Formats: sequence, structure tokens, C-alpha cells
Amino acid sequence: MAPQVLQNAFICACNMCIRGGILTLTFDEVLKRPKRGSVDEAIAELKNLLGDKVSTKPADLFSYSHDYWLITFHWLLKGKVPALPDAVVFPESEEDVVNAVRVAHEKGVPLYPYGGGSGVLGGTVPEYGGIVVDLKRLRDLRLYEDDLMVEAGAGVNGYYIEEYLNRRGYTLGHFPQSLYPSTVGGWVATKAIGQFSTRYGGIEDMVLGLRAVIPPGKLIELKPHPRTATGPDLRKLFVGSEGIFGIVTRVWLKVRPYPEERFLLSFASESLEEALDSVRRILHRGARPAVVRIYDRVETKRHFYKFEELYGKIGTVIIVEGDSRLARAEKEIVEREFKGVPAGEEPVRHWLETRFNVKEISEFAPIGVVIDTIEVAVNWSRAAELYENVIRAMKSVKGTLMASAHASHFYDQGVCFYFTFAGVPPRGRSAGEFYNAVWDAAMRATLDSGGTISHHHGIGRHRRGWLAEELGDAYEVLRKVKLAIDEKDVMNPGNMVM
Ligand SMILES: Cc1cc2nc3c(=O)[nH]c(=O)nc-3n(C[C@H](O)[C@H](O)[C@H](O)COP(=O)(O)OP(=O)(O)OC[C@H]3O[C@@H](n4cnc5c(N)ncnc54)[C@H](O)[C@@H]3O)c2cc1C
Repeated sequence: MAPQVLQNAFICACNMCIRGGILTLTFDEVLKRPKRGSVDEAIAELKNLLGDKVSTKPADLFSYSHDYWLITFHWLLKGKVPALPDAVVFPESEEDVVNAVRVAHEKGVPLYPYGGGSGVLGGTVPEYGGIVVDLKRLRDLRLYEDDLMVEAGAGVNGYYIEEYLNRRGYTLGHFPQSLYPSTVGGWVATKAIGQFSTRYGGIEDMVLGLRAVIPPGKLIELKPHPRTATGPDLRKLFVGSEGIFGIVTRVWLKVRPYPEERFLLSFASESLEEALDSVRRILHRGARPAVVRIYDRVETKRHFYKFEELYGKIGTVIIVEGDSRLARAEKEIVEREFKGVPAGEEPVRHWLETRFNVKEISEFAPIGVVIDTIEVAVNWSRAAELYENVIRAMKSVKGTLMASAHASHFYDQGVCFYFTFAGVPPRGRSAGEFYNAVWDAAMRATLDSGGTISHHHGIGRHRRGWLAEELGDAYEVLRKVKLAIDEKDVMNPGNMVM
């Protein structure tokens, strides 16, 4: 019975037009939607247990109808609501979370974990109605200086944890562009990565331990040891799980001493291949700059038009930081290995000042322009090929006005490309249809070029149609694990797996 629930999840949604993960709903349709499970009973029991930590106010239901998935932004501008939950719960303790999961399991009601709502793929959209669980009130923090480790409630805000650590002489080294609107639990659930990742890694490199509540309402703890060989690493099961197994309530993360010294470097190269090759050599010598970003010609003009040395070139910004003597040695390696013309510190300062600016989407969406970003990863041997293929594929979609990329995260084995496209849907095509066509083209080109369809944003509701092809037979393993943990499919149904 249970696997059937999951199998049907993608096609049984009433009155919804579904394609590639898109749900087109209006307020009226949402109100007519049959409930899944005994929603009213679940809400009544939760109100009894949690009191005013449960809200059914229309303003709250509306606020939790979407995340940062671009297409939901376009619907909202047109007065279409992506999907309304029936209630929102604001737990203040792990016990509250246990109660929410237990009641949802018993009553067969969908539950959607919600951190900062900054996910860009519809991961929190309550497509089957039910209950959203906002974790932001789980926000305690504790630093263990001897163990270089911080313990954080899942709802701790990204900017807040970094501030807390900086004031004590430490850093997490995790700076996603969404640092301000995202949470620690969301980072773990989406397998997030920050701008300083080439030195500090992604969140998966920082998680030492965690606690999570899984159906039927059990709190489990995976302790924060420096390393443990106690079977498969179950911590990893929750990293990137996007709320489909349970709710992460607490995390132990590695911290680092605040860097003693920082060097800013930039270079102008004649070709993308030349710049990529330079970074590959730097990494293979063992140097680990914190930030490395290589912008193609279009993006170099867009971001660095003020800097004559970079204009018309491939611009690269690099930050090396850490212990003074080590950082100096790494800077020397960068300067020796990078085959390009040094362009000084100013472009890097400009990048540091503007790195959290994301105003384009809110500026352009109201006038009908569709802009979005797509992050994928590939090994070095096919990096240039993947870049060319994805740009060509996105440009081939009628309506695309611009397609560009920068390489933003680097490894010994390869690189992440972060593509941006912008366009206006051609006559007769909706924003959603145009948006999907560009995404389809980019995903196809990525898979055909040997890449992975997501480097860090995850799968959510938008990418779920492409996951089976990427994972092959392993997709079935993922579905089985999901149903083994969550036999009634109440945890974020429809997200990631179908
Ligand atoms: C402007 C902008 C810039 C961004 N830049 C980056 C970037 O540089 N790097 C990057 O990796 N991402 C980036 N993102 C994407 C997004 O911020 C990350 O995915 C982030 O980790 C989401 O955290 P959140 O707390 O907002 O999670 P939410 O959006 O609330 O949730 C995301 C998913 O995780 C699940 N979830 C949330 N909390 C929990 C929990 N405690 N337990 C179980 N499941 C949970 C949700 O159900 C959902 O499926 C960006 C987004 C925006 C809008």
C-alpha cells in the first residue's frame, strides 16, 4: 500500500496542472482540494498539544505557500497561489517537533519542514496541503572551543551563527549567497555550499553530528565524533534529504579560527579554458584558496564593467586566507600558476561588496522577464565541453535573450558551473512554459555532457522529473529508503522523489 501512495503522488493531485514539477493552482482550486489524511483532527490535536504555536490564520497560510522558486514568484505576481497549507506549526523544542511528526504520521497528514524558505526549487511548497513546520524558533547556539565545534538549533539564521562565531574569534566558513535568509537546518537539508567553499568545503564537510525527528515521531541522535566507523554514515542520510525522511532539529558543525591574513587577487584571461586550467593546476599543487570564481566574457562585463583590465576578458577573482605563513605560501602558488594578467585587488573588493546583491529577479519579473540560475558540476576533462553545450542549449530556446555562467566552486576532480539565463516568453507561451523549456534544455545538455544536474540547490519539486535519469537504478534505492523510514509518505510528499 505505502509504495503505491508514493507512486501516485505525482499524478493524483486534484485540479492541478502538473508538468515537470509545476503545479498551477488558484486560490479557489486550493480551497476545493480534497484533504489528504485527517487534517482537521490533526490540527485539533496539535492545537491541544501546542496551543498558539499552531496557526491557521490566512496570512500565515499564504506566507508559507511558496519559497524562492522563481516560477512561484511569477504566479504570485499574477495572483495565483502555488499551494496553501492547512496550518503552520512553530515548534519551540524538539518535543514540539516530535508531537508534530507523531500526529502527522497517525493522521496521515503531509508535513513540510520549513527553514528560511530560501530554497529555489519549490522544496517547501505544500502541494498536498497539510502542515508546514517552521523551525526558526529552534535557535540556541553553543560553542565548544576545545573541540572547534558549534552546536546549533536547526532554525538558527545563517548570518546570526557567523556573527556569533566571529565575535568569539571563529568562523564557519560557510557563506551561501542566501546567508541572511537561510537556516542551519535548511543548509543541511539541501546540502548547501558557500562562496568560500574551495577552502572550507560544503556543509557536508562541516556536519559532525545531528539530531532528527523521523516518523512515527522518534528523535534520533547521531553524535558529533571526529570520525566514526560504526556502519554506513547515517549523518549523510540527512544531508541533502530535503525533508523527505524527517526533520533535522539540531546540528553540530566544525568551526575554524578566524583567518589571520587575507589576500585578494584577480586576473584577466584570454579564454575560459586558460582560466580553468590555471585553477586546476593551483589545486593540484595543494593550494586551497577560499574563493575562486571564473566569469565568462558576458558575466565579466556584467559584474566588472568598471575595471578596464577585465573588460572583454575572462575575469577571475581569488581570495586566499588563513594562518599568515600558510596563506602567503598559497598566494605565491596562485601567482605562479595562474596564466593571466594580474588585475589587482579592486575587482575582488567590488565582488566582496556586491556578493549578496540579488535584486535582478525582483526588478525584472514584474515586467515579464524570466531570469533564473542553474548550478551543475562536471569533472575537469569535460568542463569546457559542458559549458559550451549548456550555453548553446539554453540559447536555442525561443525567447532566450541571454545565457552566461561563472565557475564558482572547485575541486581536485572538477568544477561547478553556475549558469544564468534571461528571456521573455514568446507569444503564446506562458512564463512557466518558457522557463521549463530552458531548464529542460540545460538539464539535457548537462546529462549528455557527463555532468550532474545539481551541484548545490538540490532537487525540490522543480528538478524531480530529472532525478531518475541521473540516478539510474539507484533511484529505486532512494524511494525504498524513503518509504522504509516514512511508510505513510507524510514527510514532504512530492518533494525530490515521485
Ligand atoms: C538569493 C539566493 C541565493 C542562494 N545562494 C545559495 C548558495 O550560495 N548556496 C546554496 O547552497 N544555496 C543557495 N541558495 C538556495 C538556498 O538558500 C539553500 O538551499 C538553503 O540551504 C535553504 O535553506 P533554508 O533554511 O532557506 O531552507 P528552506 O528553503 O526553508 O527549505 C529547503 C528544503 O529543506 C527542507 N528543510 C528545511 N529545514 C529543514 C529541517 N530542519 N529539517 C529537514 N528538512 C528541512 C525543506 O522542506 C525544503 O525541502 C540561494 C537561494 C537564494 C534565494
